[in-house]
Amino acid sequence: MNIYCILLDWLTSAFKICTQTKDYITGIVSSENELKHLLESHKRASGTFYTVWSDDSQKKLKVTPRCLWQVEDYSEHIPLSVKRRVIYACQHGKNYKTQTTDDLHTEHEYTRRKMFHIQNSKKVDCPAKLYVRYVVRYDQFAVSKTCSRAKKQAAVKGVLESLKENTIITSEIIHVKIPLTEAHKNHNTSQNCHFSNNIHHMVRDKIQEYVSLGITSVPFLKKVLKTFVQKELSEMGSVLPHSEDPSYYSSSHVIQNYVHYALVSEKYSGFDQLLLEKKIDEWKLADPSAKFFFRKCTENDSDQTIPKFEVKTGDKGFPASEDSDLDDKDTQEMTLTQETFLFIHQNVQQQELLERYGDMVLLDATYRTTKYALPLFLVVVRTNVGYKPIAEFICENETTAAITEALNILKQWNQHWEPKYFMLDYSQQEYQALEYVFPNAQKYLCSFHREQAWKRWARQEVV
Ligand SMILES: [Zn+2]
Repeated sequence: MNIYCILLDWLTSAFKICTQTKDYITGIVSSENELKHLLESHKRASGTFYTVWSDDSQKKLKVTPRCLWQVEDYSEHIPLSVKRRVIYACQHGKNYKTQTTDDLHTEHEYTRRKMFHIQNSKKVDCPAKLYVRYVVRYDQFAVSKTCSRAKKQAAVKGVLESLKENTIITSEIIHVKIPLTEAHKNHNTSQNCHFSNNIHHMVRDKIQEYVSLGITSVPFLKKVLKTFVQKELSEMGSVLPHSEDPSYYSSSHVIQNYVHYALVSEKYSGFDQLLLEKKIDEWKLADPSAKFFFRKCTENDSDQTIPKFEVKTGDKGFPASEDSDLDDKDTQEMTLTQETFLFIHQNVQQQELLERYGDMVLLDATYRTTKYALPLFLVVVRTNVGYKPIAEFICENETTAAITEALNILKQWNQHWEPKYFMLDYSQQEYQALEYVFPNAQKYLCSFHREQAWKRWARQEVV
């Protein structure tokens, strides 16, 4: 009777034990799914978290694999080969930082790479590692337990020949070596002490799913995530997640962060773009005379209806520009514009205001006024009752190409528009775009932004 059995109630039924020591247990499972369940159970029972240490799946596949009769402690008198090996290290594993500083040669100061770490590494050189080997079995070449060496060699030869002819039938198993509590060193291994703060990937995916549906309320998410873990996640693996394990039961703060990540990653959300498309249709119905331009962000859309426009590279540069290859960069950007997001709006009242007060125009970009990380541009004129926007546009990036395109469309919509003066922020992209579209207008930098830019420049460290 094995004395360690009592500690292994988390093992899944699919796991067939090969050997077991004080530190490790090894065995085999037959599918990726069984492996997933086994590792999940192990994680829940031990509270330990592993990160990928090495994975040779990217390695070039050998034409002729190395034939083995034994992989670690697994052997069934069948020729085998290891297809892939993944090693996971304990989250408290090797401390790279101390290793690199020790190895540095002081006489070569210039080779030293400085990296600023706010926190000291939490790694404590724990040697515990989890090994996963994907093994291919060549079952049809199985030999008897007591067969001679020559017979084994003949079997290997047979395998290699069948591989060449592509007629071999194989089966796969996954050999796993799991570290037990004793394998961990230099850190506390009692439960609750070493829960990982890394959120469980399925909990993270669930947050993303809710955010894509427009649900971002943290207290609500906390409740539904709890139910999700208790009902759906608990069905996986034979052990229940610990009620205080933060990787399953995330704090409000962590949920908030993941909601933010999900929102940012949806900057290019096709879902929201569809909604906007519908919204524009509604707006058009409500105000048929309003003008809209809308182009969805498409990654590789060949169906372009807008002709590409050429931008002449003028010799007028932005004041104090140090970027001499700016024009080259802009030409490159031009070709990309067709696939980026662009939204422009102008109604009849705004056109009338532009007609009347369009001599002096302000161009102002704002960020962080919407939940998306997209710049919103307001084209503003001064009327007899204060400043009024006469057009709005949102582009994907604040590049010269994007702004130029939007301004050109506005120019087409307002054929008589010949602005004399422009006031803009201290933005090189805006300046270049205005130079391209309205070369005759005088451009003024907003004194507030000029002063701000000047202060920032004065504060810069001299390199
Ligand atoms: Zn460890």
